[in-house]
Amino acid sequence: MSVTPAPPETPDPAFLNRLRAEVRAALPQVIALRHDLHAHPELSGGEERTAGVVSGLLSQAGIVHETRIGGTHGIVAVVESGEGASGPTFALRGDMDALPITEENEVAYKSQNPGVMHACGHDGHTANLLGAALALQAVRQTLPPGRVKLIFQPAEETVRGADAMIEAGAIKEVDAILMLHGWPHLPPGQIGVRNGPAMASSDTFKVVIKGKGGHGAYPHDTFDPILCGAQVVTALQTLVSREIPPVSPAVVSVTMFHAGTARNIIPSTAEVCGTVRTLDPQLRKTMAERVERVIAGICAALRCGYDFAYTYGTPVTVNDARISNLVRVVGSEVLGSENVIELPEPTMGAEDFAYYVEKIPGAMFRLGTGCPFLLHTPKYDFGDAPLETGILLMAETARRFLAQGGLRPD
Ligand SMILES: [Zn+2]
Ligand SMILES: [Zn+2]
Repeated sequence: MSVTPAPPETPDPAFLNRLRAEVRAALPQVIALRHDLHAHPELSGGEERTAGVVSGLLSQAGIVHETRIGGTHGIVAVVESGEGASGPTFALRGDMDALPITEENEVAYKSQNPGVMHACGHDGHTANLLGAALALQAVRQTLPPGRVKLIFQPAEETVRGADAMIEAGAIKEVDAILMLHGWPHLPPGQIGVRNGPAMASSDTFKVVIKGKGGHGAYPHDTFDPILCGAQVVTALQTLVSREIPPVSPAVVSVTMFHAGTARNIIPSTAEVCGTVRTLDPQLRKTMAERVERVIAGICAALRCGYDFAYTYGTPVTVNDARISNLVRVVGSEVLGSENVIELPEPTMGAEDFAYYVEKIPGAMFRLGTGCPFLLHTPKYDFGDAPLETGILLMAETARRFLAQGGLRPD
């Protein structure tokens, strides 16, 4: 993998020392916040208590912010440099929602909300972002000219939140954006970075195959939608294996197949649904046509009609090399270069952060949590250990962006 050269460095060891001290000072409050959020998880779009707690802490620290952004519980806070806001604007984004999973951890801060838990670690992301806000606010007098926007976003898991925040103007006049995601595959104290595609686009389709039902004993009097659906499932698998170049990753998975009411009746319809993932925005644009063409051909051959719906979800998350490089530089200084890991491959999972980086340059990096359990499982826990690293990385990357006067060419 080729890595674009790092931008010119503008380190400021004195600032970094001050920042470190402020992060350490904020840490007890940040840890308490994470525990509180972990114990009181809220589902996507329902982050009312979470947003209330965050807003209270921002107010306490005198940080200017607006609440109820994006129709639900989004918050946008701003830390402005003591030298004025005439410089660039850098945004940091954290997500706040939890998942419908029953927690199986036995910790003092275990979820008190049955069936809901922070299984993706967004409790850590929110606490981390609040920590960055506190630390940056404490050093704002010595920040280079410009502004740091802190975007507390609801509803990532349902991929509704990012779009709503953007619609509401959260990244208006923002030059670049950064997020982190806790990553159990790396230990605390390490980060993972990557240029280019980092996470896949995630789209879905649904087809209702319309045949002609009848008695199971007289198939010649029917147009069997189950047999047609079965052929559709099989034929869709030729898209990735026969149409798309092997070097261009894609997934077509049929994940639902519903049909029939009794063992001796051939039904009149069958419903087939699935998900489509790609890492190439151009390839993504071609997938709806490919999927429908296969369905139409099979249905025509087997005398069935169909209703087809293709729903675009999250785009490909593409990391801008200029922002990833900034994270590499800061990560090497703060953690040592041996702790900045080049991620060898993207993942076919999706992130609604993709909507921001479709509009403005930005990047996500992985923050090691070292949790032995995977994301979206009942024992995942972001933990407290990653917080100091995450806050420092975000706050210092923001300062560095302001110090270099905004985006630099590759
Ligand atoms: Zn998740
Ligand atoms: Zn997540």
